[in-house]
Amino acid sequence: MAKACLTQASILACGSTRHPSLALQPHPTARSKAVVTENVSAGTILLTTSPLSTVLIQQEKGRRCDLCLLPNENLRRCTGCKAYWYCGQIKAWNIHHRRICKRIADFTNSVYYRGLTNSEQLHVLLLTHLIAEHGSILHETFSTLDQVGEDAGTLDPIKTLLSLLPQNKYEQLTYDIPLRNVNNDLISHLSRRFSNNNFTIHCSRLDVFAHGIFPLASRFFNHSCFPSAVPIYTPLEGSGTIEMRIKVLRDLDPGDEVRILSTNPLIILTFTCLNSRHR
Ligand SMILES: [Zn+2]
Ligand SMILES: [Zn+2]
Repeated sequence: MAKACLTQASILACGSTRHPSLALQPHPTARSKAVVTENVSAGTILLTTSPLSTVLIQQEKGRRCDLCLLPNENLRRCTGCKAYWYCGQIKAWNIHHRRICKRIADFTNSVYYRGLTNSEQLHVLLLTHLIAEHGSILHETFSTLDQVGEDAGTLDPIKTLLSLLPQNKYEQLTYDIPLRNVNNDLISHLSRRFSNNNFTIHCSRLDVFAHGIFPLASRFFNHSCFPSAVPIYTPLEGSGTIEMRIKVLRDLDPGDEVRILSTNPLIILTFTCLNSRHR
């Protein structure tokens, strides 16, 4: 990241960093809008943030590490479930795999899972990873959700995730997941927020290789088919994760809204955009 871009940047929760000119303001129809409060040049990084959780798309299984998402020719396959590949298994075991290894193979062979669409299967696995990695804090925060206030200056990623708007507030969507002792209301609450808030993760050639949960980016930016910024993804070597950076595409004036392209641009350019959050 260009260091100049982050001069006087605000440090948000979970290692995220926000450019000082980026602010949330009321919007007449959307929940809010992200604007810049000063002139911002093309190429500026407005937000850096790490995912709460990620999942590889099926075509990348065995080619990239299921934890850090990096391509690796020497991955080690889990001998228990034979369904996950890691570059460093001990770290992966502690972060999430010990909670999913025993049941994941039976689950992905089940009639329920096989009856889901490809994107639903990714949502289910991502939800499983999320709860395996952050189950305690998710349950704790969910139990006090009515009292969870929001501070746009220091957004907490767990509070922010739980307070995101669902795709359809009348929809009663609940995925089954292969984890025990999980509050069904929590599963339903999260299931309804996945399709319109999660991000595809792509390389610089725009090939998608994973999906991820980036609550702060979801909360800040409305989507557009004619965006003023894009998410780019950079592996953080040694950290076991990847970083999203929101990069400005053209010079912006004070008050300009920052809207992002949140999925594979090739798909959006080819097909009619159906996402209700796009404008
Ligand atoms: Zn790895
Ligand atoms: Zn396993």
